[in-house]
Amino acid sequence: MDHHNKSRQEVLDVQFSTRYRLCKIQAFIGLVFLLVFSWVSYLNQSFALAVILLGCAIICAVIVYVLYKTTRIELAVNLLNINLFILPLTLLVTGGHENTGILWIYPTLAVTLFVNRFWPAVTLYGSFIFLSSLLLFTPMSELLLTSYTIHESIRFEVTLFLLSLICLAVLHSKERADQMILQLHDEDIRKLAYYDALTGLPNRRNFKKNLSRLLRRAENEGGSVGLLYIDLDNFKQVNDKYGHEVGDKLLCDFSEKLKEAIRPTDMIINEKFDELARLGGDEFVVILNELHSPINSGAVAERILNMFVDGFETFDRTHSVFASIGIATFPDDASSPDELLHSADLAMYEAKRNGRNRYEFYTKDIAQLMREQRRIEEALKTALAHNLLSLVYMPVFDCRSLAVTGIEVLLRCPDLMVDNIGPEQFIPIAEKSGLIKDIDLWVIENSFKSLLLLQSSQEFSGKMCINISGLELQNELFPSKVKTLLEKYHIAPSSIEFEITETAFVLNDIKGISTLEKISALGISLALDDFGTGFTAFGQLNSYPVNCLKIDRTFVADLFSEHVAKKKMVKIINNLADLYELRSVAEGVESLEQLEYLQGIGCDWVQGFHLCRPLAFNDLVNFLVQEKKEENFTVTDPLLT
Ligand code: C2E
Ligand code: MG
Ligand code: MG
Repeated sequence: MDHHNKSRQEVLDVQFSTRYRLCKIQAFIGLVFLLVFSWVSYLNQSFALAVILLGCAIICAVIVYVLYKTTRIELAVNLLNINLFILPLTLLVTGGHENTGILWIYPTLAVTLFVNRFWPAVTLYGSFIFLSSLLLFTPMSELLLTSYTIHESIRFEVTLFLLSLICLAVLHSKERADQMILQLHDEDIRKLAYYDALTGLPNRRNFKKNLSRLLRRAENEGGSVGLLYIDLDNFKQVNDKYGHEVGDKLLCDFSEKLKEAIRPTDMIINEKFDELARLGGDEFVVILNELHSPINSGAVAERILNMFVDGFETFDRTHSVFASIGIATFPDDASSPDELLHSADLAMYEAKRNGRNRYEFYTKDIAQLMREQRRIEEALKTALAHNLLSLVYMPVFDCRSLAVTGIEVLLRCPDLMVDNIGPEQFIPIAEKSGLIKDIDLWVIENSFKSLLLLQSSQEFSGKMCINISGLELQNELFPSKVKTLLEKYHIAPSSIEFEITETAFVLNDIKGISTLEKISALGISLALDDFGTGFTAFGQLNSYPVNCLKIDRTFVADLFSEHVAKKKMVKIINNLADLYELRSVAEGVESLEQLEYLQGIGCDWVQGFHLCRPLAFNDLVNFLVQEKKEENFTVTDPLLT
C-alpha cells in the first residue's frame, strides 16, 4: 500500500511541477509586458491605465517571488487570477489606446486556461462575462471611461462567450485525461501488487487473500478446500543452462497449461484465476474449492503431472523438467490458511524426497519427518560451530596384494550417531540447508591434517579419498579454497582423491565440468562415487576429467543374486573402467566370495567390512602398524611364501 501511495504521489508531482512551471513563465512574461505597456501608456498620457498596468506588474513580480521562494502554487495561481481579472476589466473600462484595449482581453483570458483547474476557470470566465455585460448593456456603462457601439458590445460578448466555451472544453478534457492517467496508474499498481508480472497469475499476497476468503466460506458452509503445492524439478538447471529467457518462457507456458489442467473440473473458475497463484520462483499453488473427497485433488495432481510425461517442451526443445506436488486439505490437515500452505509445502517436500515427479498427500508422519529434519539441521549447525564433528577412516586395498593403497574419510556427527543417524541421512539435509559448503571444507582440512600425521608417523604413501558434495560442482569458489588448503598444509595434490557421487552429474553441465577441470588441474584425482546408480555419467565419461569409478556397494551385494541384470553390473562397470582406462574400486565387500570374484575380473581396488570397517584415527594407526608388520613378516620369512 505504501508503495502504491508513493507512486501515485510521483504522478501528482509531475502534474504539479508542470503547473508550477507554467505559472512561473506566465508571471514572468506578464511582468515584462505590463512594464512595457505601462510605460507606453504613460507616454500616451493614459495615466490611469499606466498606473493600473504598473500595479498588475507589481502583482506579477510578487507571484514570481512567491514561486521562487515557496511551493505555494495555489496562492500564486489566485494572485495570477486576480491579475488576469483586473487587467481585462481595466482594458474594457479604459478602452486602451484608441479603443483597441478589448482586443487584448481575449489572449489575456485565454492564458488562464493553462494554470487553472476547471471549476475556478468557470467562475473566472463566468464572472467576467457577467460583469462585462453589466458594464456594456446596463446603466452601469456610465462607469466606462470610453464608449462602445451596440455592435461592438454584442460582438465582444459573443466572442468572449465562445472563447470561454472553447477554453473550458479544452480544460475539461485535459482534466479528464489527467484523471485517466492516474486511474490507469492505480490499476497498474494494483496489478503489480496482486498479480505476478511474468505469468499474470495472482501472486502470493493475492493468493493468501483468496485462500482466507475461501476457508472462511468453507467453515461457514461446512465444506472443505484442497490445496496443491507445485514445485518444478530441475527448473534451475534450465535457467542456468539456457538462460532466463527460456526459463521465463517455460514458467509462462506452464502457467497456461495449468489453467487448462484445472479448467475441466467441477470447480467454478473465473477468468482472473483466483484459484491459481505463483508463489515465486518455480512454485505454484492450486486451490480446489468445494471438494467432495480428497480423491479429486489427486485427479487434478495427476492431470498436472501428465503435462510432464516426456519432460516439458518450450521453444521447440524438451527439457527434463518435472513437478513435485504436495496436497493438503482444509479442515482435515490444517485450521488456518498459513497452516494449510505449510502442510501442502511439507507434502511437496515428501514428494521430492520420494523421487520427484509425483504427488503426495499430507500426513502427520510428514510433519514428524520435517521436525526431525529441522532437528538434524540444528545439530549439524551446532556441531560445526563447536568443532564437534568427527571423522572415521576406511582403508582401501589393492585388490590383488591386499596392501592398503588408500583411505576413505567418512564423516560422523557424534550427537546424531546416538540416534543412528549417519551421513547418508544428514548430508542431504546439510545440502538443502547450505551447511554443506562449510562441512566439506571442514572435512577437507581435517583430512589433510590426518594425512600429514599418517605420512610422518606411518610413512603412509597412499591416497586420502575425501567425499565432497555434488553441490560443489556449482560452487565456483570451491577449487580456489581447496588450493589454499593444499598450500597451507603443504600437501602433495597427487595424494588426494575427491569422490563425487555420480547422481550429481547433469547432462552437458558446463559449469560442473569446468569446476572438475579446475580441481583436476590442481593435481587432485577424481572418483565417480556410487557409479551405476545415476546412469547420467555412463555415456559421457569422455567429457569428465575423472580417474576412477567406484562401483556402488549395492551392485557388489547383488553379485550372487538371482537377478541376472543386477549380477552383471559389477562386471559391466569394471569393463567400462577398463575401456576408458580408469581405476575401478569396488566398495561394500563383505565376504571372501565377493573378494575372490573381484580379483577374478581384475578390479583394481576394494574396500568393505570383510577387509576393514571404518576406524577412528588411533585404531587406523594401529591397523596400519599391524599391516606393516605382517607385510615385513611375509617378506622376511621365505618359509611362509
Ligand atoms: P560413500 O562415499 O559411497 O561411502 C561409502 C559408504 O559405504 C560408507 O557409509 C561406508 O561405511 C559404507 N560401506 C563401506 N563398505 C561397506 C560394507 O562392506 N558394508 C556396508 N554395509 N557398508 C559399507 P557412510 O559412512 O554411512 O557414508 C555414506 C555416504 O555419505 C557416503 O557414501 C558419502 O556419499 C556420504 N559421506 C560420508 N562422509 C562424507 C563427507 O565427509 N562429506 C560428504 N560430502 N559426504 C560424505
Ligand atoms: Mg565415497
Ligand atoms: Mg559409494
